[in-house]
Amino acid sequence: MMEKIFRAPILNPIDANTWRFYQDGALGIDRGIIVRMGDFATVLNQVDADVEVDELDGVIVPGFVDVHLHWVQHRVKGRFSGELLTWLQGHIWPEEARYVDTDLAQSAATRFYSDVLRAGTVMGMSYSSPHADATQIALALMRGDWVIGNVLMAIHAPSTLTDYSLHDPDALHAFMRQMNMTNYALTPRFAPNLSAASLKALGQIAAEAPCLIQTHLAESNAELQWVKELFPDAAHYTEVYDRAGLLTPRTILGHCIEMRDEEWRCLRARGSWVAHCPTSNEALGNRRMPLEQVRAYNIPFALASDIGGGPSHSMLHVMQRFLGVHREAGVSVAPQEALYRSTKAGAECMGRGSIGGDLTAGKRADFVLLPQKPAADSVEAWFEECLSGKSADLEQRTLGTWLKGERAA
Ligand SMILES: [Zn+2]
Repeated sequence: MMEKIFRAPILNPIDANTWRFYQDGALGIDRGIIVRMGDFATVLNQVDADVEVDELDGVIVPGFVDVHLHWVQHRVKGRFSGELLTWLQGHIWPEEARYVDTDLAQSAATRFYSDVLRAGTVMGMSYSSPHADATQIALALMRGDWVIGNVLMAIHAPSTLTDYSLHDPDALHAFMRQMNMTNYALTPRFAPNLSAASLKALGQIAAEAPCLIQTHLAESNAELQWVKELFPDAAHYTEVYDRAGLLTPRTILGHCIEMRDEEWRCLRARGSWVAHCPTSNEALGNRRMPLEQVRAYNIPFALASDIGGGPSHSMLHVMQRFLGVHREAGVSVAPQEALYRSTKAGAECMGRGSIGGDLTAGKRADFVLLPQKPAADSVEAWFEECLSGKSADLEQRTLGTWLKGERAA
């Protein structure tokens, strides 16, 4: 008998409007997989009397999923701000160029995984620097379940980055042949860094390779103007990717703020996902993603920290500001949605809806312990209390993180 039971209150997301709370809950785990979940008394009736029960002092929620971040910006997250393009050129690209140094990449990757696990993130999508070595180091040292891509950038960037970018289709093909497609994402940085011909070549690779695709779309107005100059015959920014064949149900687009109606319709038709990064958008002075439009067009989305544009890797902080920025704009948004968009929706976005993202039987036992729920409080009020405070506190708020049923942080 390999099964083990964790006993604690459990909060499990169902959808954007619903969660289920078990005041005296139990999670049965066998070889890293959840085999049963529910009220403790019910679960106990289903198992042998001698099963090991581990009582946890806190509330179990699924491990968090962060669907858009740059692990090579973790060291400088929150350190710089300013308009997107000058921020990239002045601060971020010089930092990413340092990842040509494999020793630095090794120590930074170790630190990155330890920090995100401490904050409760067990799964996500990450942009690497353009360097093949740094990307392979991030994949080799992975803790949790990540999808990572070397950023592809050929033009309009310093040679310290473009010289190392595998944007040439032959070089990229050769590199991708060594990669496990389960954990690799085709990662054009954004339209200004690639020509229409390069984007088209990437679209052809995307059509054949069974991997996820990630890029940025319509984050700022200055970016939008630049794209207009670079691609004068495109009807809009979204079309630049669409005619290259890069918009698929496996595509995750960071930001999507400065969007026209026809662009939302295009995303809807292609089935592509949005990675919504409220803390990054605030930090860089970009506008709020129009959640009401995303809802109206029924665009699937999940939450993300976007470090280093985002000041913190804590998904609790991202949830706090997700609720904050939309409520401040008069848009109604519930804590149930914050949890769902940071767990189950993220796993669905990554094509892992059947293996992770919530605590139902059959899924990987990746979970987080949040501070105990006061008995008199409503679950909603307790959860919002868990999201309150400064980002530095939120990075330390989770009491523990488990991967495949084993304590990892
Ligand atoms: Zn980003």
